[in-house]
Amino acid sequence: MKISGIEKKDNTLNFVVEEITPAFANALRRIMVSEVPVLAIDDVTIFENGSSLYDEVIGHRLGLIPIKTDLKTFKLPSECTCKGKGCPKCQVSFTLVKKGPGTVYSGDLKPSDPKTTVVDDNIPITKLNEGQKIKIEAIAMLGQGKEHAKWQPAVVSYGYEKDKKAFRFHIESHGGLSPDKIVAEAAKILGNKAKEVEKLVK
Ligand SMILES: [Zn+2]
Repeated sequence: MKISGIEKKDNTLNFVVEEITPAFANALRRIMVSEVPVLAIDDVTIFENGSSLYDEVIGHRLGLIPIKTDLKTFKLPSECTCKGKGCPKCQVSFTLVKKGPGTVYSGDLKPSDPKTTVVDDNIPITKLNEGQKIKIEAIAMLGQGKEHAKWQPAVVSYGYEKDKKAFRFHIESHGGLSPDKIVAEAAKILGNKAKEVEKLVK
């Protein structure tokens, strides 16, 4: 396998891989979009919602806000020592309290862990008029894109270049994880799957 033409800019990464099969290229792509975990808000408690949007709409919007994820700090709830009950190793909580008038933005979400912030502070969530208030607690946890698209860390595609007999990959992250981290994590997951097969056939 040969890798060349690496171009990295902000949240995008391009590279060319030679001497691999279409099956391998697709396995890598599918693992990146559906198995590399990233944080997303999954549990929302709404104490007060004076805005004109329904609670469900606000919950859905919160789920789609990208969150900076350190995979060394967090584990998937199913693999955590708390067995999925929820603890600081597998989840982080955010509080959102704001009084109108004004727009409620993603940056108004205050995390319990100062390192785990939203990627972009300027995503509008809802608007509040004079006298309206919002008070929400939201829990973010690690998850995988195969369960819900909000846990998909990037959009990944590739094209085949006939002349070079190579696959050109394009990865565009939403910013929760850097694109190179997504590739490295996908390679690790693929390696672990191969090891499992090796164990089973021995
Ligand atoms: Zn846990």
